[in-house]
Amino acid sequence: MNFAVTDTKSLPEHEWDVVVIGAGVAGCVAARQFAQRGLRTLLVESRTIPRPKVCGGCLNSRAIHILKQIGLGHIVRDLRGETFNGISLRSGMSTTSLSLPPGISVTRHTLDLALLGEAHRAGAIVVTEASAAVQSATNGEMRQIDLRCHDRKISVRSKVVVCADGLLRTSLHALPQMRSSHTANSRVGVGVVVEPGTLQDSLTDRLPRHRITMIVERHGYVGLTWAEEGRLSVAGALDPQFVKSAGSPGVAVNRILTSHGVQFPENSGWHGTPSLTVAPQKNTAERIFVIGDAAGYVEPFTGEGMAAAVEEAVSVVPLVCQAVNGWQPSLGEAWQRQHRLLFRKRQRICQLAAAILRRPWLSRLTMMALNRFPQPANYLVNCITRPMLILPHG
Ligand SMILES: Cc1cc2nc3c(=O)[nH]c(=O)nc-3n(C[C@H](O)[C@H](O)[C@H](O)COP(=O)(O)OP(=O)(O)OC[C@H]3O[C@@H](n4cnc5c(N)ncnc54)[C@H](O)[C@@H]3O)c2cc1C
Repeated sequence: MNFAVTDTKSLPEHEWDVVVIGAGVAGCVAARQFAQRGLRTLLVESRTIPRPKVCGGCLNSRAIHILKQIGLGHIVRDLRGETFNGISLRSGMSTTSLSLPPGISVTRHTLDLALLGEAHRAGAIVVTEASAAVQSATNGEMRQIDLRCHDRKISVRSKVVVCADGLLRTSLHALPQMRSSHTANSRVGVGVVVEPGTLQDSLTDRLPRHRITMIVERHGYVGLTWAEEGRLSVAGALDPQFVKSAGSPGVAVNRILTSHGVQFPENSGWHGTPSLTVAPQKNTAERIFVIGDAAGYVEPFTGEGMAAAVEEAVSVVPLVCQAVNGWQPSLGEAWQRQHRLLFRKRQRICQLAAAILRRPWLSRLTMMALNRFPQPANYLVNCITRPMLILPHG
């Protein structure tokens, strides 16, 4: 890490304009935007960064467009990710290919570290290895947030809290009205980043460069994407029972890939996620805004997760700036409305894709149809990858 993170013991102050919880894509981008606007910003992350994160690492054209608009175009350039412009879907003997607007694949290890650096450079104070819990009572003009770092606990106060703490939104457990539910048949994510030295030679022939390869079977699907410096991101959404019966994520993924002649070491570096489909009722409470996966998530398809995280991190900024000057319930209502608008369309398209991918027979039928009539898929892909908001510069 080429910048210093602050220990909870040496925090310069205990009162903040904004505390951002979670240093994933959403949290880092949001913290940078707040700090750039002169807000005293604390970014709290429960793990050490870089940390493993199950993700295909595909930044789609929408994510890249927004990053460029907010002055982070150099990140996309400097990380030297692998470009992609299409996706190959395989199910049994069926295959189909779709064109995608150009995107970049980069491991989350590299991307999140770079974004955290940007938040820090903009002036956000970064604390890692500290788990944050928002307290239920508001205290006049402030919210209290408890930070637990190893066996030490300190409390900080903030005019606004932005929760970007991922699928489990653990920071909000003390607020019953902010609980979210998982759908009954929700899948779990599993993934690994395979280093170039450990890859089978034959893989480079089987997995074309500059394309996402997605293999769909009855128990789930696995995406394979080349990333920076010859790394390969492997990320899948699988039935939890299937992973359990296989005994480990590595074995489960190899079972899906076996008929395609692709296998990976089963015991090294695999990670998992909780249930992937989260449907929170509320994404605001007094002085609280929720963004990114914590605000709602549907199964991944062509890299829309990070695009949504970046988009929400940027769109919440004007509301947070107003809330720092004085909380109004209308600010929360505005975010709830705006988030619903951003989320709904994407959700419908991803739900459609997920429903098809869950049924291999339907996937095969869809692939056959797409081979003959690709226009509907191009339309849907365009809907997902097109920027939904005109964002203010700066
Ligand atoms: C299998 C799979 C493949 C995917 N592939 C892609 C893809 O190719 N492209 C794409 O765009 N998206 C993809 N996604 C989705 C993408 O990973 C997420 O949408 C994205 O990471 C959301 O970012 P975030 O910042 O909201 O959350 P996260 O990246 O999950 O970050 C949340 C952070 O909060 C921290 N945290 C949690 N609780 C606390 C706490 N109490 N206190 C402090 N910190 C806390 C966590 O440690 C974490 O670092 C994929 C997802 C899965 C499961």
